[in-house]
Amino acid sequence: MASLGRHIIVEYYDCSPEILNDVVNIEKSMINAAEEAGATIINSTFHHFSPYGVSGVVVIQESHLAIHTWPEYGYASVDLFTCGDTVNPWVSYQLLKEAFKAGHGSAVELSRGEMALLKRKNFDVKALRDEKSTDEGDPIKTRDVWFTERDDKIALSLKHDGKLYDVQSDYQRVSVFNTQAYGNMLTLDGMVMTTEKDEYVYHEMITHIPMLTHPNPKRALVIGGGDGGTARELLRHDSLEEVVMVEIDDKVIEASKMHLPTIASALEHPKLNLIVDDGIKYVNDAADESFDLVIVDSTDPVGPAEGLFTVDFYKEVYRILSKDGIMVTQSESPRFNSKVFKEIFQTYRGIYGQEQVHCYLAYIPTYPTGMWSFSYSSKGGAHPIANFDEAKSKAFAKEHRLKYYNEDLHKAAFALPSFVRDMIS
Ligand code: SAM
Repeated sequence: MASLGRHIIVEYYDCSPEILNDVVNIEKSMINAAEEAGATIINSTFHHFSPYGVSGVVVIQESHLAIHTWPEYGYASVDLFTCGDTVNPWVSYQLLKEAFKAGHGSAVELSRGEMALLKRKNFDVKALRDEKSTDEGDPIKTRDVWFTERDDKIALSLKHDGKLYDVQSDYQRVSVFNTQAYGNMLTLDGMVMTTEKDEYVYHEMITHIPMLTHPNPKRALVIGGGDGGTARELLRHDSLEEVVMVEIDDKVIEASKMHLPTIASALEHPKLNLIVDDGIKYVNDAADESFDLVIVDSTDPVGPAEGLFTVDFYKEVYRILSKDGIMVTQSESPRFNSKVFKEIFQTYRGIYGQEQVHCYLAYIPTYPTGMWSFSYSSKGGAHPIANFDEAKSKAFAKEHRLKYYNEDLHKAAFALPSFVRDMIS
């Protein structure tokens, strides 16, 4: 390596003024340009100037990418600085040129830190490395690397010690981070799906509420749920003869088996029929009244999951449910995705009937706003409270040492805050 770093000084001309003034878009483009070039994101900060213009930097393990825009001239100046030879900054140059719709760009590459001019200092590396420890002996982590999930108003950041898995599948970017506070964490397209430390909340609530109120569940279908947590909880119920799980992305299953073993622990269970396919197609092809319980454990209504939030899909789910069948879905956050949340309950009530659809809540620290909702739709007579057998629920929660679900919470989960109740009444 002749020099420590490569610094590409870039000028983009004749760009789209709208794009150069869109701070969210620019940040996404800069982060994508860094990742596609092979860089590891540490953190990013972007600022929108008034009346226009954006400035920002993406700190990467291999140094940084920085930008300042003049939308009024359709001009952007960018610095691509990388060290080591694992990142190709010219990939970022090309991607940003396309992202900003630049008419043309010019760039000059400088070698920074010519080795021939440098002499290594004699110093104690250990003293600089994060090998110090607290009095209790816990390692003091000096690496300050954060994963951040954000939309244009809200962000959630988790400190992590690196990526254990990172693959662009046919459907989405599948990543596993080793977070310091929540253990290993699965993300899809930069959104938190599940973490080792709080997954039990979601998986216990999406399964045991319907399973302990259905009169006699024998066959259950899970759409999505590739991490395996929902199947694991379902298979605690001996009454079930078969659990069919239809996950579209085999990379999610692979990542979970490799890095989330406590969540994926039942993916080889003899009663589990694991199918890698599009859940929409599977439901369309399934026979009438062939399932007692359908759980839609999907991602948000984007990408492969978009079709899972349509009236047609839910009418098909209704068709394949047995006479006293139940459908439970993750129905987003009333706060974070208010519009989708309301639409979901309107849609289900249009199919199952006003009194047949119920909402319940749970608190998941690593999900946006922490407040998450589930929908419970009953085709026949099953009712989440009226059919609730407290003693059976208590015994089940105790026998399986459940960490979130219990007989009191079962009832409490359906007691909605007024603002939520008003949203769907
Ligand atoms: N608990 C998470 C949440 O609430 O966001 C969901 C977890 S689970 C990992 C979601 C799964 O749905 C993903 O693995 C994704 O690949 C899968 N999925 C998305 N669209 C799908 C489809 N059309 N058919 C089957 N699986 C799908």
